[in-house]
Amino acid sequence: MNEVAAGDLVLGIDVGGTTIKGEITDGAGAVVSTATVDTPRGVAAFDAMEDLGARLLGELPAARRDRVARAAVILPGIVDPARSLAVFSSNIGWRDVKVGDRFGERWGIPVLIDHDVTVAGWAEWRYGAGRGSDDVCVLIVGTGISGMLSVGGRLVRGAAGQAGEFGHIPVRHRDGLPCPCGNIGCVETVASGPNIARAYTRRTGRGISGAEAVFAALGSDRDAGAVVHDAIDAIAEALLGTIHATCPELIVLGGGLAGAGPVLTDTLHSRLSALLRVAPVPRVALGEFGIRSGLVGAAKLARAGALA
Ligand SMILES: [Zn+2]
Repeated sequence: MNEVAAGDLVLGIDVGGTTIKGEITDGAGAVVSTATVDTPRGVAAFDAMEDLGARLLGELPAARRDRVARAAVILPGIVDPARSLAVFSSNIGWRDVKVGDRFGERWGIPVLIDHDVTVAGWAEWRYGAGRGSDDVCVLIVGTGISGMLSVGGRLVRGAAGQAGEFGHIPVRHRDGLPCPCGNIGCVETVASGPNIARAYTRRTGRGISGAEAVFAALGSDRDAGAVVHDAIDAIAEALLGTIHATCPELIVLGGGLAGAGPVLTDTLHSRLSALLRVAPVPRVALGEFGIRSGLVGAAKLARAGALA
């Protein structure tokens, strides 16, 4: 598929566990129209995506509506873009949903589907903190941890299309917490946003609103410091295999937690410097799109026509 014309608009839809967000954007990335709805459980989520897209398109004046050239819908779980199949989402609860042309027929434009974090990571790699580099590992850290890997300028999909599940690399096999995936001590059980907040509460007996509050307390609260260092330790350990195997020049920390700022990147870089002997220590940078990486990625994918 060719890139859409610079003057054309695109529709991007980012499907999350709690909300579905949609945006129509222009060639400069400016938002022309936007809306968010709650995510229904199960296959009803696909009706909600379809209605949201139709509503956003219907709100445009006819002359602008005709300029919307393509859409991209990004989905959680396991996605098979080539067969237009939403294979599995444990979070929302669907299995083997054939997306096919249903969105395209209703919206009247070509529609791409792909995996949400792959697309968010690709956007950081190609257009954000990783642009210009061929060998990049992007971690999107938020309610979960997942990511994208590029090697030699190519996006790694893996044999089953599932590359990038960094969150389920076990780093505390013996004394870790159970992960919803069924394993023990996955990096996500230590370093996802909600689990950083839980670790703080376990350690201090005090409730806290979320990981952002733990980061905000770093200067004045030793327990916050210990919890954050433990989380970054877990991320460093999880990255060791990937770094030795592929030698990325850059690690990008994206997603909601990137808002914590340089303390994340500096601490991760010094941990990696202490742990690596043979493989070169990669640079570490914060993502540029924060929690918008999914929507930015969906718009970029719709414009580009492929994750190239
Ligand atoms: Zn797991």
